[in-house]
Amino acid sequence: MKYFVPNLKLSVDLPPQEKLEDKFGGIPWGLKPEQYPMCRHCGKSQSLLAQFVHNSERLDLGKSGRTLLVFQCNHNPGGCPTWEGGSGANACFVLDPDQLSENLTPMPADFPIIEPEARIIGWLDHDDGIAPDEISAFYDDEQLWDLQDEMRDRVYPQTKLGSVPEWLQSPSEAPGEGWVFIGQLSDSYKFIQEPSPQSNVYVYPSSDYWACEGPNFGDGGIGYIFLRHHSEKPDGWFFWQCS
Ligand SMILES: [Zn+2]
Repeated sequence: MKYFVPNLKLSVDLPPQEKLEDKFGGIPWGLKPEQYPMCRHCGKSQSLLAQFVHNSERLDLGKSGRTLLVFQCNHNPGGCPTWEGGSGANACFVLDPDQLSENLTPMPADFPIIEPEARIIGWLDHDDGIAPDEISAFYDDEQLWDLQDEMRDRVYPQTKLGSVPEWLQSPSEAPGEGWVFIGQLSDSYKFIQEPSPQSNVYVYPSSDYWACEGPNFGDGGIGYIFLRHHSEKPDGWFFWQCS
């Protein structure tokens, strides 16, 4: 299966954002303040994790100009159940182009913690060699554990769009019938080129890349994004697991 890995740059190393773009963290583009998601548990504004734009190859939102937004609450780490799909402590939804404004969303009055902002300047496409008829095994507890290590090792474990999830716990937490996995988020950002040293984000070297801390998904967690397509714009679902 094809999958797509983001080529990231910290926004401090880029000109100011002037249009809808794929990105992680920061403040959303085009989201109207009245649509800003609030945490159902603590009542405060959530924090943006990712914003992606429709692309017929890597992210099918059913219509050009649609955007997918993923948030979670950051006010009460470990208190508000951000890990749980449908808990109301996270949010994942699609907006039509006519629902968007032409600028960055204003900072909410309760100042949620803003994740480091990195914009996606390109996507690198890869193929993990997993065949379409092998996908279903990745959503079934027994079949997944029965898979050969060689097959499980093919799954790219970091931030990506496409293919199958890198599960840290049971695949039975997937939302089930009608929902399609579209991508996953790591708890760190990975940079192919070294970010500039004057950035105010702590960047550390890793084996063949640089990285900085991303969202709080517990200990080394991964966030999973699913969509359910129907005649209207798709529904979104988000949850995370940690090791
Ligand atoms: Zn909360």
